Amino acid sequence: MTEDTLLDRLCAAVGARYVETDPDALAPHLIDWRKRYRGTARARVRPGTTEEVAAVVSACAQTGTPVVPQGGETGLVGGGVPDASGSAVIVATDRLNRVRAVDPANNTMTVEAGCILQHLQQTAEAHGRLFPLSLAAEGICQIGGNLATNAGGLNVLKYGTARDQVLGLEVVLADGSVWDGLRRLRKDTAGYDLKHLFIGAEGTLGIITAAVLRLHPQPRETATAFAGVPDVESALAVLNRVQEATGHAASSFELMARRGVELAVKHVEGARDPLGAAHPWTVLVEVTGGFGDGGLRAGLEGALMAAHEAGEIADVVMAENAGQARAFWHLREAIVEAQRHEGGSIKHDIAVPVSAVPAFLAEATPAVEAMIPGVRPVPFGHLGDGNLHFNLTQPEGADPGAFLARWEAVNARVHDIVHAHGGTVSAEHGVGQLKMGEIARFKPPEEMAMLRAIKRALDPHNLMNPGRVVTPEAES
Ligand SMILES: Cc1cc2nc3c(=O)[nH]c(=O)nc-3n(C[C@H](O)[C@H](O)[C@H](O)COP(=O)(O)OP(=O)(O)OC[C@H]3O[C@@H](n4cnc5c(N)ncnc54)[C@H](O)[C@@H]3O)c2cc1C
Repeated sequence: MTEDTLLDRLCAAVGARYVETDPDALAPHLIDWRKRYRGTARARVRPGTTEEVAAVVSACAQTGTPVVPQGGETGLVGGGVPDASGSAVIVATDRLNRVRAVDPANNTMTVEAGCILQHLQQTAEAHGRLFPLSLAAEGICQIGGNLATNAGGLNVLKYGTARDQVLGLEVVLADGSVWDGLRRLRKDTAGYDLKHLFIGAEGTLGIITAAVLRLHPQPRETATAFAGVPDVESALAVLNRVQEATGHAASSFELMARRGVELAVKHVEGARDPLGAAHPWTVLVEVTGGFGDGGLRAGLEGALMAAHEAGEIADVVMAENAGQARAFWHLREAIVEAQRHEGGSIKHDIAVPVSAVPAFLAEATPAVEAMIPGVRPVPFGHLGDGNLHFNLTQPEGADPGAFLARWEAVNARVHDIVHAHGGTVSAEHGVGQLKMGEIARFKPPEEMAMLRAIKRALDPHNLMNPGRVVTPEAES
């Protein structure tokens, strides 16, 4: 099939106005969020229905054309950017944005892949339910992208990752056929659970077009506290106290190193440290649920008081209202932006068993300080999930380019330590292009062989987001 024929078929499938080939229209979609990866593409296609996605993928399959799915383009590992060959067709899901059904009695909603995460939270709320997946990009990212990356975010401790929100999926497969797996079942032991192959596959096995998502009751009560702790071991002790005292009601338990708090206060408007004195570590804890009678807050206060008496907490403030809770969260979220004001930063999105976090930090921090004298570690993240963003800000006054040139060497050293502590080098952002080499370095050969076998079975011509996550054959 000639180039013209492919474009003709794409236009026939979705309508010419939804086939972008103009370089200026394409340009913003050829670079990733962190501006680390650039590529080119033949066209960017915006189908409006599952059938249109199927027709596009079918045309690509018949012409041997690689397909790169794009959701909200907030991914942090370069997974949604085509390569430099210019051969790929980008399939954007933004027009697949319908909520097909809400079933409050079954506590599910059936939604299309292009729905913005925040809109889905609002849809659930309008039906008196909670959709708990929540991350800072929620106003832009799409549920299809969230599922494709198995996103984590702020509520994993209580509700699990994106994977845990899914009962069923609809997927356009590599040959353009449609798998209707939109089951609304909480139990189904009829063979392999195929939906889990596509969740976290980053578009390398098919395009997710719709999903059945679990809904939860809206919590009747939320209590939020911000505490200074002497060390990470104490923070873990506090976490366990809070869980015991509240019946496992902690939805978030966030850890911040002192430097992160200081940088946030220095650089980001509205970011204030609610504690009077400086503490080496701070935690933000939020509990949700209860009966709406203040019991949950009382449980949290009791746990924090006991932790204070045991010397695990130096100081603590409880949010007295939603505005104060938002201010605590603003400080936590400001850390990411604050780092940008200090020059380059080398990032790690890692997880270790929760109990191993203190030992990991005790080993990784001096290791990176020895590699780059003056480097400023700014670890923060979801301590309750064992997931840290072990980010390193460049030494003061250093050349950002020279610092960032050490990215891979520093990653390798940190990842070795993560691996030694039984961890993963990709906790919630995925593999994309950024971590392909690293996952192959750490996964057992048997696991890599299974991943490649799955890739070959579901995408025999290696056309679905090729060069991301895993190659079909072992690289020599
Ligand atoms: C400010 C900020 C904060 C963030 N915070 C978090 C966080 O707390 N936790 C977290 O986990 N992540 C976080 N992220 C990362 C990012 O938001 C998530 O990875 C998100 O799930 C990506 O969704 P998206 O729609 O933007 O996907 P995209 O970036 O468009 O795509 C991501 C990957 O999925 C593939 N893909 C997209 N849609 C589909 C589909 N329908 N079918 C198959 N494959 C598809 C793409 O090809 C690509 O490989 C953050 C990002 C930013 C910018």
